Amino acid sequence: MLNKSVEREALAQFLASELQITRFRDYCPNGLQVEGRNTIKHLVTGVTACQALLDKAVELSADAILVHHGYFWRGEDMRIVTQKQKRLKTLLGNDISLFAYHLPLDHHPEVGNNAQLAKLLNLEVCGRFGEDELGWLGKSVQLKTVGQLARLIEEKLERTPILIGDQNQLLTDIAWCSGAAQNMLGAAIEAGASVYLSGEISEPTVHLARESGVPYLACGHHATERYGVQALGRMAAEKFGILHTFVDVDNPV
Ligand SMILES: [Zn+2]
Repeated sequence: MLNKSVEREALAQFLASELQITRFRDYCPNGLQVEGRNTIKHLVTGVTACQALLDKAVELSADAILVHHGYFWRGEDMRIVTQKQKRLKTLLGNDISLFAYHLPLDHHPEVGNNAQLAKLLNLEVCGRFGEDELGWLGKSVQLKTVGQLARLIEEKLERTPILIGDQNQLLTDIAWCSGAAQNMLGAAIEAGASVYLSGEISEPTVHLARESGVPYLACGHHATERYGVQALGRMAAEKFGILHTFVDVDNPV
């Protein structure tokens, strides 16, 4: 099965239809962001298309890179200078394609970041909430309290989450959204959640969690988004019989 290849366009089309990229209003282009060679035998995946990931992909002789956080974010400096120049030079100079999927990868029901978090934490998905249904609701059979959930997160994500709220609070519906979705705490409360978890935390999140009595868990932006892109990479590799390598560039945030 391995060591086959796929044309860049065929891979782009497969990912576009699998992730339904046209249904989202996103802050960046989803799909092929930088065009490299036509034929892809080795796909490298990672959370963010940072220089360390690109350098590793070059070392691994990758033909294409697939990430959750790519380039060309709305409102960013459009000039090709400094770090952006170096990154693009690395990709173009080595003829490596860059594919990036942001909200479509958070949303996907199987290989998405949130679906993969549910799997990792053994949560039974029972609903969605918020804009574009990016928030998820679920239940846990084995966990009884917020503290138990925090300990499971620490074990599975290999990172100690920041808990704002009462660790003895009983769990009913658990709400989550990967990445920097701390601003969805209000929507999670409205959706009836007993606890909400995301990656990052902001100063106002603390007060809202305390005042509403709905605890908040900041589990790490990188840590909560490590799993979707890996699952998507595995799916593409199985579909086309190509080689896939996930590269984890650690990030404490
Ligand atoms: Zn993110």
